[in-house]
Amino acid sequence: MEWRTHLITGLTAGYLITGADVNSLLVAGVAALLPDIDHPNSYIGSKIPIIPSLIKITLGHRGPLHSISAAAFITLAVTIFGGPSLGIVAGVGYLAHILGDMLTPSGVPLLWPVLSKDIKLPLVKTGGLLERFVVFPGLCLGLMFLTVKLFFR
Ligand SMILES: [Zn+2]
Repeated sequence: MEWRTHLITGLTAGYLITGADVNSLLVAGVAALLPDIDHPNSYIGSKIPIIPSLIKITLGHRGPLHSISAAAFITLAVTIFGGPSLGIVAGVGYLAHILGDMLTPSGVPLLWPVLSKDIKLPLVKTGGLLERFVVFPGLCLGLMFLTVKLFFR
């Protein structure tokens, strides 16, 4: 999936569990971009020097950082530094990214290190027509609907 799809997916997931709390949405949005720090040309990887290249060389793109284990680590780390509510939001945003990538032909090593095999349900090609003209706009409309609904309840 493209970075903007990951971002809107993370924001939507964060919104669904916390509502319109700005801090939580920021954490969910950043967490939803974080797994692609394993690639220097990704949106988040291009913002950080050296580290993404080192991660790509050692772990590979869509390697261990795209697993439930990594989501659990992020949840724990954010819980330690930001409390359990933000930890859960970060974990959910991170998982939203992983589940999105799982829907692409490349898949993700979801159960790493127990099982290194990529798990996939190849429904959406990254950057393809379905993602750009159905998935991304659909998620945007869904998030807008949730936001409008919040103001009129
Ligand atoms: Zn990814």
